[in-house]
Amino acid sequence: MMMPVYILLSLLLSTIPVQEDAYKAQREQMVERQIKGRGVSDKAVLNAMRSVQRHLFVPPAIASKAYQDGALPIGYKQTISQPYMVAYMTQVIEPKPNMKVMEIGTGSGYQAAILAEIVKEVYTIEIIPEHGKMAAARLKKLGYDNVEVKIGDGYAGWEEHAPFDAIVVTAGAESVPPPLFEQLKEGGRMVIPVGPVHRTQTLKLIEKKRGKAITRNLMPVVFVPFTREGQK
Ligand code: SAH
Repeated sequence: MMMPVYILLSLLLSTIPVQEDAYKAQREQMVERQIKGRGVSDKAVLNAMRSVQRHLFVPPAIASKAYQDGALPIGYKQTISQPYMVAYMTQVIEPKPNMKVMEIGTGSGYQAAILAEIVKEVYTIEIIPEHGKMAAARLKKLGYDNVEVKIGDGYAGWEEHAPFDAIVVTAGAESVPPPLFEQLKEGGRMVIPVGPVHRTQTLKLIEKKRGKAITRNLMPVVFVPFTREGQK
């Protein structure tokens, strides 16, 4: 005897949502404890952190660790930032739906996806080709058609799409690359970790007011180094 189609279907479907639901619950808990619990309150940021499936941005072998309170290795000595740091840096630029944002250091593409949930256009640059290609494919597959990924040295920014309402730098730079400040709109905001290589850096918020940089130190952070083309 043949099983009715609806039973077959529900049997089939019942196996899929289990994992998905587990991650959804973990994501909700991540937002409540790690993000809201530490003072991030921007609704759009919280919603983006609830929506983006972080476990799809880490190597499959460590997908189950995706919602832990820390950075995780993504290969080639790089890391996906701690969820709180992603949320905090996103909130600090005061993202709005009409904004055009540049990110330096695409990595897994997770920060770009969070931004893409909120703002109109995201331009992200990655210096390691393997990461850039993988992130671009991942973002495309997930339907983020408002993100463009470029492979290259982010030091020079992305002249052709400048100026930007905001810039997010996710690698620790020794100083603020002047081209990035130049490509920031008047009144725009840049968030960037600055400090000596392999040491604690200071997360800085730089606002462009009448062409001048108004800098505020936010907190000590540790990011992977901002490298230059031709360097290891
Ligand atoms: N934002 C990423 C985390 C990035 S880790 C995420 O959400 O997963 C920092 C990334 O910056 C690394 O992938 C590193 O290769 C990249 N990077 C370092 N120096 C760079 C440069 N000069 N230009 C572009 N990307 C750079």
